[in-house]
Amino acid sequence: MLLHLLSPVVTRTWASDKEGVELDKAKRIVIGENFKTKVPNIYAIGDCVAGPMLAHKAEEEGVYVAEFLAGEHPHINYDCIPGVIYTHPEVASVSKTEEELKTADVGSQEGHVLLPGQLACSGLIQGAGKDASL
Ligand SMILES: Cc1cc2nc3c(=O)[nH]c(=O)nc-3n(C[C@H](O)[C@H](O)[C@H](O)COP(=O)(O)OP(=O)(O)OC[C@H]3O[C@@H](n4cnc5c(N)ncnc54)[C@H](O)[C@@H]3O)c2cc1C
Repeated sequence: MLLHLLSPVVTRTWASDKEGVELDKAKRIVIGENFKTKVPNIYAIGDCVAGPMLAHKAEEEGVYVAEFLAGEHPHINYDCIPGVIYTHPEVASVSKTEEELKTADVGSQEGHVLLPGQLACSGLIQGAGKDASL
């Protein structure tokens, strides 16, 4: 069973019926390697497990489990999963935050990139990056 339930409330209600499914303090399902719960044949992905509650993250995890169950050897790199907020204008981010780099003691530089031409004229799109080459 591949589990991706909507909210912590739903997760808690569902898990209370399933002996052995462990929840953390935030009422998310605890998973181990390959998204396995403590109960054999139950896998959990997406919002009901730890990590950002983003559609792209849930999708990548779903693909991972599907490939794993098909006998493949999937790999997931959370640094490559973009976070997209479908507002207007849209906002997106990818890879580590400045705080995460500081915690890992990795140097970073802040830079801002204004896109040229029509995009910039629309006033809707502005890129901001943190890259030593900027
Ligand atoms: C208002 C809103 C805006 C969002 N905007 C963004 C955004 O801009 N960008 C972004 O990346 N993410 C956004 N998200 C988050 C994104 O929707 C979730 O991270 C993503 O849908 C999580 O996928 P999931 O598969 O874990 O859960 P879901 O997509 O919620 O799927 C859970 C499924 O389980 C079903 N279900 C629940 N209970 C049961 C049950 N008891 N039995 C059977 N089925 C059940 C539900 O009907 C649902 O189909 C937004 C979320 C909300 C609420």
